[in-house]
Amino acid sequence: MTLPAGTSTEDLPGAPAPGARRGARPPLTMLVPDFPFPYDEHLAHPAGLGSVPAHRHGTEVAVVGAGVSGLVAAHELMKLGLRPVVHEAGEIGGRLRSAAFPGVPGAVADLGGMRFPASGRAFFHYVDTVGARTSPFPNPLAPQTPSTVIELRNRAHYAEGPEDLPAEFGEVAAAWRRALVEGAELEAMQEAIRRRDLRAIKEIWNRTVPRLDEETFYGFVAKSPSFAALPFSSRETFGQVGFGTGGWDTDFPNSVLEILRVVHTDADDQHHRITGGAQSVPLGLWRHAPATIAHWPAGTSLESLHHGSPRPGVTRVRRGEDGRLLVLDRWGTERAYEAVVVTCQSWLLSAGIDTEESLFSHEMWMAMERSHYMQSSKTFVLVDRPFWRDRDPATGRRVLSTTLTDRMTRGTYLLDGGEGIDDPAAADSPAVICLSYTWNDDALKWLALSTDERVRLMLHNLEQIYPDVDIASHVLGDPITVSWEREPHFMGAFRGNLPGHYRYQRRLFTHFVQDHLPPQQRGVFLAGDDISFTPGWAEGAVTTGLNAVWGVVHQLGGSSAPGNPGPGDRFAELAPVELPDT
Ligand SMILES: Cc1cc2nc3c(=O)[nH]c(=O)nc-3n(C[C@H](O)[C@H](O)[C@H](O)COP(=O)(O)OP(=O)(O)OC[C@H]3O[C@@H](n4cnc5c(N)ncnc54)[C@H](O)[C@@H]3O)c2cc1C
Repeated sequence: MTLPAGTSTEDLPGAPAPGARRGARPPLTMLVPDFPFPYDEHLAHPAGLGSVPAHRHGTEVAVVGAGVSGLVAAHELMKLGLRPVVHEAGEIGGRLRSAAFPGVPGAVADLGGMRFPASGRAFFHYVDTVGARTSPFPNPLAPQTPSTVIELRNRAHYAEGPEDLPAEFGEVAAAWRRALVEGAELEAMQEAIRRRDLRAIKEIWNRTVPRLDEETFYGFVAKSPSFAALPFSSRETFGQVGFGTGGWDTDFPNSVLEILRVVHTDADDQHHRITGGAQSVPLGLWRHAPATIAHWPAGTSLESLHHGSPRPGVTRVRRGEDGRLLVLDRWGTERAYEAVVVTCQSWLLSAGIDTEESLFSHEMWMAMERSHYMQSSKTFVLVDRPFWRDRDPATGRRVLSTTLTDRMTRGTYLLDGGEGIDDPAAADSPAVICLSYTWNDDALKWLALSTDERVRLMLHNLEQIYPDVDIASHVLGDPITVSWEREPHFMGAFRGNLPGHYRYQRRLFTHFVQDHLPPQQRGVFLAGDDISFTPGWAEGAVTTGLNAVWGVVHQLGGSSAPGNPGPGDRFAELAPVELPDT
């Protein structure tokens, strides 16, 4: 929903670099305040990311996981002349998985990440690299969304823009904005992010973290003077409608710092989807032959280095007698490496991989063990055409809308085929409905049900909101559903820190700078969604992958390109604030 962020079309991906246009207001970007390293500038720098000594060219580096983080890391390591050896237990793409509806080219269900904020510039750097096309995602009340229905307490509100909603929604939005401005320095932080004033970003955040690390999202809302002045029902409404994509009340028990990072960096607004499915980005990286590459002949790609397919999943990681790291795959082949990048969910280092304990300190193990994962479930159906473009002749309203409800379905999204909403070429082609997208408790409520049971119940729910629309009559083929907590090789959807977890996240995030570690704890570089300060956003998976690249290059005696310091080079200046343990 377009509530408080105050962004504009300047912020769209592909827009010129900040400050490039005279007079233009610089955009909000995911300069995540814990470590506001400008990854987008680092990636765009003409000198490239760096180099390794020539005798290191061709050195193998293991990469565990072929999600977007592992593939970004592998792609950049390959460009530097190293030889990434990617291991994957499941599919290339990981949580950017797109399931196809058979027989209908282009009709896909994005089972994990499906909408990507314009402010996530490092992710969009790779979207551009692989030449993927995007279109605006039809979030509730977004300018590109034809219509939205918010159904609360058995009352449906139809809106083609925020101004169509009753005054109560405006009051709640204003209360949230005031809570952010008064309780979390929203305006000062966003101004600092727009100006790329890293010092100001850090000053604000360094005083916010100790103040709010132990506060839940719900506590922050309920205790704010702006919400305290409103009745309880406003909190309910806020939980349902929230900000950005809406429906954030399942995050109420999480640390409010998780929410503030999203709001400050505009991550929950101005979303784009990837034409043909989000998986085309990691698959594109797998196949992409970079124009500039050290050591390898032109035309080299990750695919060509791997004879087409990643190596099998990893079952054990240990230190060999010569000090190198030994990685065993599920078919019993063990290979030795000087560096290993691990991008699977970090809890899998305990639960899925036999990892030698001495590779990490006790504090690091604790940080991994404490990971709190969010659950998530999505269910999609294919329909004969985007019939939601039709208008009811009696009311003039669209017959079906993007829907937020307090019923079990929670969020329903209408995904036209072709190049997005109202693409005339797709008016009569099959389209996709995400009948329900839920998190946490709401997701667990679907877990025990079969696909058909889920769809039947979801259609029943929607029938209560749209009694005159026969959605089922449009459904084609088999539905597609996922519950990430049931997927092999995953621990749930994504990390979501609880109050008091900041210290653990800091340990995980900063682990890529290893000079101070004892030798037995060096060489494994953690990356991916779990390690990022913005879990649940592909941007964090990408940027932690780049941190790991810096760590590997540094470990192999390489360095960043002149004039383009990497994340580790600026670590002392930008490091996340440390909270005392006692
Ligand atoms: C339901 C859901 C909705 C989301 N929505 C959004 C969104 O709208 N926008 C957004 O930006 N982000 C979203 N995300 C987050 C985004 O999908 C992730 O941040 C990103 O895909 C994570 O990439 P990764 O490489 O860190 O991890 P993964 O994609 O999980 O990659 C890790 C890989 O490791 C593999 N693996 C596991 N064990 C082993 C082993 N033993 N050996 C070898 N490989 C192994 C796994 O199979 C997996 O492929 C969403 C995620 C989910 C689940």
